[in-house]
Amino acid sequence: MLARVAVKTMADISSTVLGETLSAQIKANGPMSLGDYMAACMADPEHGYYHQQNPFGTDGDFITAPEISGMFGEICGLYLAHMYEIAMASVLGQSGPSSNAAIVELGPGRGTLMRDMHHAWAQLMPALTTHPVHFVETSERLRAQQADTMRATGAALHWHNDVSDLPSAPLFGIANEFFDALPQDQIIARNGEWHHRLVGLDTATGGLGFVDGPLIDQSEHKDTLPDAPSDGTIFEFCPAAETIVAHLARHIATNGGAMLIIDYGRNGNTGDSLQAVADHRPVDPFFEPGRADLSHWVDFAALDRGATSAGARLIGPVPQGRFLMRVGLATRAEQAAATADPETRRALLAAIDRLTSPAQMGEAFKVALLVPAGEGLPPGFETI
Ligand code: SAH
Repeated sequence: MLARVAVKTMADISSTVLGETLSAQIKANGPMSLGDYMAACMADPEHGYYHQQNPFGTDGDFITAPEISGMFGEICGLYLAHMYEIAMASVLGQSGPSSNAAIVELGPGRGTLMRDMHHAWAQLMPALTTHPVHFVETSERLRAQQADTMRATGAALHWHNDVSDLPSAPLFGIANEFFDALPQDQIIARNGEWHHRLVGLDTATGGLGFVDGPLIDQSEHKDTLPDAPSDGTIFEFCPAAETIVAHLARHIATNGGAMLIIDYGRNGNTGDSLQAVADHRPVDPFFEPGRADLSHWVDFAALDRGATSAGARLIGPVPQGRFLMRVGLATRAEQAAATADPETRRALLAAIDRLTSPAQMGEAFKVALLVPAGEGLPPGFETI
């Protein structure tokens, strides 16, 4: 992970139209929650990050796993094909490979991951290519890009603003670097008590900054918060992630299916994990609102609680490097390298290193699998 450094002075940091709007709003109504600030920065229909910028890839602010190598999508696709085969074995004979399964991706970015998964299915599990693809995506700009990327696959594409209107069918799908982008809130300990940590105006500079808010309603979090926290301790909550996972879990508990959830994260919510990145560099979270990517570590333990209470099971998380190696990334790379020229071979090795080495994405990124309640551990998750 990148260390966070401030690269702009406070006076500069609200110098976007969105920054000015948010400052005026705070002047009029008082401080806003961090979640509302993040939602405005990322999803404002006019000035939000995903509606304005081209964030992905070498020209963008960050490179995600599917943009590093097509092997990432192929391996994830093969993994879901395996889960599909197992899940559908129970309904085979009744209706054939379920005629009503749905393929789902949350936050598909440029559409690269789904295209690469489709490519693998076309070769090894054509039944999966016959099901419609449902993208959960709020950005119109990215929807258009996803349509372009997916055109050659011939898949029927549907877009949704959220998970609430996904079809009532077994869901097979993936969410890569989706949950980290959802708005989150923070609380902070002061003199042994917990306060909301809000976004307000710095009294000295007038710029946007963190301020302590009112006391929290302790009863909401009493089981998870320490009684005597040291001053300045921060805890994070992502209600949107919990709502989404609970919804998917209910869906999968009822209709069946399997969803891979891949993100940087941990089991827990202590500490400030908010980070802002612009032009591949860490910046202050209040740097030019709407121009930097804001994200945070995903709390897999919270997702697990949400999944379990909705009657499903979240298996994992396991580190991404271990998962990818266990499910055959090295073998896949060897196959590709066998016929490649030296330069392509070097690029393949560099991609594997980037995806799996602990110093890069291998350890900080984690993989979890949402499935109906049950027993046993599928490949990649043994000895969690
Ligand atoms: N999965 C892609 C992109 C990750 S970036 C990849 O790995 O390359 C996050 C994606 O989630 C973007 O497509 C963004 O527009 C989308 N997104 C962010 N918040 C969202 C929300 N609340 N609802 C739906 N999509 C959202």
